[in-house]
Amino acid sequence: MRSLDEYLHDAEQAHGHLCAGQVLGVRLAMLGLKELEIDDPRGKDRKRLVTFVEIDRCVTDAVAVVTGCRLGKRALKFRDWGKVAATFVDVSTGKAIRIAARESSKSLARQMHPEIEDKNQQQMLAYREISDHDLFALQWVKVDLPPEEFPGYKGERVVCDACGEGINFRREVRRDEKVLCRSCAGERYYSAL
Ligand SMILES: [Zn+2]
Ligand SMILES: [Zn+2]
Repeated sequence: MRSLDEYLHDAEQAHGHLCAGQVLGVRLAMLGLKELEIDDPRGKDRKRLVTFVEIDRCVTDAVAVVTGCRLGKRALKFRDWGKVAATFVDVSTGKAIRIAARESSKSLARQMHPEIEDKNQQQMLAYREISDHDLFALQWVKVDLPPEEFPGYKGERVVCDACGEGINFRREVRRDEKVLCRSCAGERYYSAL
């Protein structure tokens, strides 16, 4: 595995700036990989890992950089829960660990560096120094990953009976003998003008 500074350099490039979220995200992902004993997630181990992230913020960009898991590769799964947490699944063994940033990390940063007024600077420094244990809560978990969730899944593509658009990865809804996309089935996040 590479060093914190090396990953932070890459994270800064990918994310556009260096921030406390990047430090937290890089450390969170490095810890997940260490626990799963995955050394080279962007090289020889690149097919071993699926990562679930629970927030769409700075942290998530850093997790993606360290793990090499990306949305477009189906190896990054997003659950919009607003929590600074991620679950790392080793698909070769089925082992999985969920790691969440402790709620106390912000106040700990304040205690450690009261001399730094800027919150982001304060946390950036403290999040380098705080131990894994004080920064994160770890939990070994079981994640059910059906075949259609795996990055390399090759499945049948179906067409929505209502709108005619194609649907991959078994995301269709079957109702009253009809095949519907999620939008036509009522999960629409937009409305027509
Ligand atoms: Zn940021
Ligand atoms: Zn449809």
